[in-house]
Amino acid sequence: MSVCSIKEIKKRVAEFPKKAFIHLPTPFNKLENLTAELGGPEIYIKRDDLTGLAFGGNKSRKLEYIIQDALDKKAEVIVTWASLQSNWCMQTAATARRFGLRPILILFKSYDLGPGLDGNLLLDYILGADIRIREAEKGKVVSAEYAAEIVAEVVNEVKEWGHKAYVAPLGGSRPGGDMKLPLGAISYVAAFAEMLEQASALGVDVTHVIHSSGSGGTQAGLLVGAKALKEDCRVIGISVSDDKESFGREVLAIARGTVQALCLKLPIGNEDIQVMDEYLQDGYGIINKPVAEAVRLVFQKEGIVLDPVYTGKAMVGLIDLVRKGYFSKKDKIVFFHTGGTPALFPYRDKLVELLK
Ligand SMILES: *Cc1c(COP(=O)(O)O)cnc(C)c1O
Repeated sequence: MSVCSIKEIKKRVAEFPKKAFIHLPTPFNKLENLTAELGGPEIYIKRDDLTGLAFGGNKSRKLEYIIQDALDKKAEVIVTWASLQSNWCMQTAATARRFGLRPILILFKSYDLGPGLDGNLLLDYILGADIRIREAEKGKVVSAEYAAEIVAEVVNEVKEWGHKAYVAPLGGSRPGGDMKLPLGAISYVAAFAEMLEQASALGVDVTHVIHSSGSGGTQAGLLVGAKALKEDCRVIGISVSDDKESFGREVLAIARGTVQALCLKLPIGNEDIQVMDEYLQDGYGIINKPVAEAVRLVFQKEGIVLDPVYTGKAMVGLIDLVRKGYFSKKDKIVFFHTGGTPALFPYRDKLVELLK
């Protein structure tokens, strides 16, 4: 069942210009050993950790469009913000440098990690990003209001230098700052189409897509892709940062904006949004034994590295749902690997302790 053809969706997405600089399509394959281990439905993986920008990840897809937007707006500096070990910030800095822009990153420290430059923060440093660290509440992504205050200060500073800044919103998800359209989500409508083509080529009838959800753009894009191209495919977002009600509202708003930007006639309602927040546990960036064990299991069984903050938690969700009998044996599940692997290293002490 589909409202649109893949060709039509590709045509609509192509109206939004992008700098094509990452490796697409990313690989798609079956996780044979994990499927056997869990004994449930067939599990496939979409390797968006292999986009080829820095250490890969979902932010690379979004940034193909966002960097084009910044260049079109004649920006010389990109300003963005997120948490201390943010994949988004590191990927933005890498993209900015690649296209000759200067990155300023406002990084909010909301969890305890060892001191020193490590993981994404080390990569930010190597890139020569202008790094501004601020404190934030534990286990939470920084509030929009507090972030906006600091961003405004930085933008003023850039103006005083006589340079033009492009403010990219957190995660490249909800339109804001200088990004007026849901470009990140649009890139994930294309990702859904890309995955569907690969699955069809293998004769796989995808029933569920499951992935880690943080700022909502990925889920909104995948959902719009599913609504347009394969209505019976459910998109399940495992929240790593927010409760399901407020997160669901965020995804719905971005998804509706995406439908509008693509001039599609797709009604999207609350019933389409499936966010699970039970795997969030103690909050954003805080890990526990199931997360460490999921990271180990997928590494041992498949040779694929997950990260503790996003994909590890989403995998805890997938494993738990399979074990609880949430899926039927005939279902075909696609796990989107959204990247984030540099964050593994700052968690070394916790991972070792949890895996003892
Ligand atoms: C940002 C991120 C996500 C979540 O994507 P959103 O579009 O922000 O919801 C998932 N996984 C990783 C590794 C990320 O860096």
